[in-house]
Amino acid sequence: FASDNPMDFRHNQIMPGKLYVVATPIGNLSDITERAIKTLKDVDLIACEDTRHTKKLLQHFGINTKTLSYHEHNEIQREKELIDSLINGSDVAVVSDAGTPAINDPGYRLVRAAIDAEVEVVPIPGPSALITALVASGLPTNEFFYAGFLPARSNARQTRLRELSSILATLVFYEAPHRLLPSLKDAREILGERHAVVARELTKLHEEIRRGLLSELVEYYEGSAEPRGEIVLLIDQTVVATADVTEEAGSSVGQLVAEFERQGLDHRAALKKAARELGLPRAEAYPRLVAERGRN
Ligand code: SAM
Repeated sequence: FASDNPMDFRHNQIMPGKLYVVATPIGNLSDITERAIKTLKDVDLIACEDTRHTKKLLQHFGINTKTLSYHEHNEIQREKELIDSLINGSDVAVVSDAGTPAINDPGYRLVRAAIDAEVEVVPIPGPSALITALVASGLPTNEFFYAGFLPARSNARQTRLRELSSILATLVFYEAPHRLLPSLKDAREILGERHAVVARELTKLHEEIRRGLLSELVEYYEGSAEPRGEIVLLIDQTVVATADVTEEAGSSVGQLVAEFERQGLDHRAALKKAARELGLPRAEAYPRLVAERGRN
């Protein structure tokens, strides 16, 4: 349809394409979804973190769609090209090397740019290492805090762990094999004794899920060769009541309750908060408070 009437400009406009954010397997190729395969076949272009890597996946599933590299070094330049293609009617899929794009992988900026350009964004869900690890960890899943990679340098790592120490949720990190042990040691020192899980090579041949107290995991990895492969580290929100912690807790429930009451909480809420801060089961906080008062 072409019209000479300038008021008909809308009819001449091309419908913009859609941006599909497509999750791919984190190891086991059978984890790809039917919808991901169909989408990757149907789109006009696939923006890949690494085209060579993704081409192997595409080949495996008989997908011949054109690919284009889109990674942290050319993100800004590619963004414009990709948005132009979308505005001109092409459907584009974005994938990363493994797992869900935009989760510690390229994708976020493109999604943001698409939204700003009024291009529809369609998520095609699938594997992500953090969720895969969390559900098998045995740590509480009702609230979790995904903190990406910890800093590489110990000082910065300890500062970050300190920032995270009061979060009341399971902590989830991605970790490099050579930094696992230093991170476990720093976590034990800064966060105290807690239950933790090292989930390694998920969905792959050598999948391993190791659970233990932070100090037990430190001991284990100190005594074994550096682990190989890809790792998710998960840490419980609660400090386990070891002898030293119990001692500390026993003398401070009352102080914390008083402090929170000063801040405006009622007694019940203050006690609940004190229990959380100290990593105590709530049922234990009140008897401790009473015992403390008895001692003073
Ligand atoms: N976008 C990906 C996702 O959704 O999981 C994460 C990409 S991030 C650059 C890569 C990190 O994810 C690895 O260093 C590792 O910590 C974690 N990871 C990826 N695949 C994994 C696997 N199969 N097992 C354990 N951890 C994995």
